[in-house]
Amino acid sequence: MKLCICSHNTHKVREINEFLGSHFELQSLTDIGCLEDIPETATTFLGNAQLKAQHVWKHYQLNGFSDDSGLCVGVLGGAPGVYSARYAGVGSKDSDNLKLILEHIKPYQKPEAYFICVIVLILNGQEYHFEGRVSGHLIHTPRGTQGFGYDPIFVPEGHQQTFAEMLPKQKNELSHRSKALAQLKNFLDAL
Ligand code: IMP
Repeated sequence: MKLCICSHNTHKVREINEFLGSHFELQSLTDIGCLEDIPETATTFLGNAQLKAQHVWKHYQLNGFSDDSGLCVGVLGGAPGVYSARYAGVGSKDSDNLKLILEHIKPYQKPEAYFICVIVLILNGQEYHFEGRVSGHLIHTPRGTQGFGYDPIFVPEGHQQTFAEMLPKQKNELSHRSKALAQLKNFLDAL
């Protein structure tokens, strides 16, 4: 089955490809010729995921799915949340966002946090939703070089290593995205 992954994020596209593997013929936004940035102007993860999948369906008439994901930190009132990718401002890099969150969590010991991923699938115009979460805590000194975003400071519950210290396969077994993707895969396999 041909499916578009509605994302420009190369790390994310690679992770999703590794997870869904050869079951599906996956195309990225770049592959389908969608080079514009689809605005993520909603205030919820679901709303942002809908914007991307609906854009692809509306303008390209292609089946596809989008995910919106982020990190929510309890002591920061759920921030950075939907603003995870631009916590330090529009156009900010992962390193800028990491620096800012480290500033904000400085007063707190082992602040609890979770990653969440919401997937919206559009199949022949019909919309389906899936959600995955992984809980853990943040550390104050980044560790590891794998992954992206907040991986170097996130330690999943029951583990000692940060996501950035784990091999992609290990992270994929635990991550919010893989939990949401597993639901998506089950759904598609049952069609
Ligand atoms: P999205 O591309 O709009 O879903 O934004 C997600 C943002 O949340 C990313 O830019 C990262 O900052 C953060 N994020 C989401 N998933 C992960 C992850 O698996 N590891 C680290 N950071 C993540």
